[in-house]
Amino acid sequence: MTALRLILGDQLSGKMTSLSDLDKDNDVVLMAEVREEATYVKHHKKKIAFIFSAMRHFAERLRQKGIEVVYIKYDDDDNQGSLFEEVKRLASQRKVDRVIVTKPGEYRLLADMQKWQENLNVEVVLREDERFIASTKDFAEWAKGKKQLRMEFFYREMRKRTGILMEGSQPVGGKWNYDSENRKPLPKGGVDVPAPTRLECDDITKQVIELVDTCFSDHFGSLEQFHYAVDRDGALEVLKAFLEQRLANFGTYQDAMKQDEAWLFHSHIGLYLNTGLLLPDEVVKAAEQCYESGKAPLNAVEGFIRQILGWREYVRGLYWLKMPEYKRLNHLQATRRLPEFFWSADTDMNCLKQCISETRANAYAHHIQRLMVLGNFSLIAGLLPDDVNEWYLIVYADAYEWVELPNVSGMVLYADGGMLASKPYAASGAYINKMSDYCKSCQYSVTTKTGDKACPFNYLYWDFLIRNRDTLSNNHRMGMIYNTLDKMTNDKVEAITSSARSFFDKLDSNEKV
Ligand SMILES: Cc1cc2nc3c(=O)[nH]c(=O)nc-3n(C[C@H](O)[C@H](O)[C@H](O)COP(=O)(O)OP(=O)(O)OC[C@H]3O[C@@H](n4cnc5c(N)ncnc54)[C@H](O)[C@@H]3O)c2cc1C
Ligand code: SF4
Repeated sequence: MTALRLILGDQLSGKMTSLSDLDKDNDVVLMAEVREEATYVKHHKKKIAFIFSAMRHFAERLRQKGIEVVYIKYDDDDNQGSLFEEVKRLASQRKVDRVIVTKPGEYRLLADMQKWQENLNVEVVLREDERFIASTKDFAEWAKGKKQLRMEFFYREMRKRTGILMEGSQPVGGKWNYDSENRKPLPKGGVDVPAPTRLECDDITKQVIELVDTCFSDHFGSLEQFHYAVDRDGALEVLKAFLEQRLANFGTYQDAMKQDEAWLFHSHIGLYLNTGLLLPDEVVKAAEQCYESGKAPLNAVEGFIRQILGWREYVRGLYWLKMPEYKRLNHLQATRRLPEFFWSADTDMNCLKQCISETRANAYAHHIQRLMVLGNFSLIAGLLPDDVNEWYLIVYADAYEWVELPNVSGMVLYADGGMLASKPYAASGAYINKMSDYCKSCQYSVTTKTGDKACPFNYLYWDFLIRNRDTLSNNHRMGMIYNTLDKMTNDKVEAITSSARSFFDKLDSNEKV
């Protein structure tokens, strides 16, 4: 009996179910860099370089354990271009009896794989992905019969189930959530931000960077200063540095933004978690350990653990529960196409310019940049969900549809009509000004509400509420905001809508805004 065990680019863990019960004497592992996966959207160059290099390192690791690996490189002359064709070729060359693969993280690929058996004439076994703390079945059971699927309640269940930060049946410290102590701007006098962990490129990574530079020259993003980890040891080093140097301040400055400081106190491990170089339970336990040993305070540790044990598990559960319909949702019927400056960063709005430039350089932006600058603009400018989703899927090294889509369609665009968020995360320039120093270097005035010089976030925020009144005003969490709007004079409302109209006219005719 020979089994072909397929490992995908985001399945780089010895814990994959596709590798369990592997028979070294008979089985063969297949890994392939294929055009179909690298280009179904035009991923950021750094993202492709990271995944190909991490795949090549993982293949080496398997070989060192005596496992036979057939590895197809992107520029191999006979590369078949798709996973199915590579599986088909190897299955017939080696007369395999079974193809074993752990279910992929994206619906489109799972739907494709479900047809493979019929087309290959070989049994295709699709195994569950057990890297997550909750299975898709666990999530579906939790969601059953609930009118609202709020992350906070799912998270509490996960705390109880895992015993993380628990004292018996009660949360450590008496509260589930310490956000009232978190989310502060950086102090006026400044704060020392530890440099992010920067790892040297080895020969494998250098070769991959050259390949990406040649084969993906028309993709977004820069390849310069590639310093990601590309194997498990490197990813563990990044995690260790975070726990020792930044975790203690993670909660307090979680939402802060600063000009030319892309990394701040975040962990920068999303890309490693999502490819299997790190596992969520080990990260959560390591953070809990930092609290128990007094290395980091509870507000920081709880805030960090919530992102992984709560949000990350929750969005994955929601994705598999609601796909494929979720991808088609557009509750606010937004239609404006993605502005060109999302690629070029050529805008006078300094907050957007900063976040897009950093994204282009690093394939990274932290959560609040994604949510409250880029996402907030996408929401209040009424951008088309398909365009926004594609952009986020392309530009971040940690982006895979299972995690990107609920964050964009649910958290940012309210396109799911409130399945994920109880109200849209819309905000005016005042929020960005409070949480960053971006406005100081901006050509627009954050304190001016309407007119050419006014911060566009200010009038777009109210214009968004006006445009979507029919859909949003029934939401009880929006009541106060609509009351404020209703108290505005007609002149003020007219000034808002006419400022928004001229902004959109410029945007739609590709003039610089
Ligand atoms: C519009 C938008 C799009 C996003 N797209 C992605 C994406 O494609 N891939 C992705 O992994 N995360 C995504 N996120 C969530 C979050 O922004 C990133 O996980 C985080 O910025 C990664 O940086 P970090 O590792 O430094 O995270 P930290 O801030 O240090 O957080 C630690 C970890 O918590 C997890 N996490 C935090 N927030 C979320 C969340 N909302 N959903 C899921 N996991 C979370 C991540 O694994 C992250 O690595 C998105 C958020 C928004 C608002
Ligand atoms: S003034 Fe407005 S556009 Fe400029 S940086 Fe501040 S929030 Fe952004």
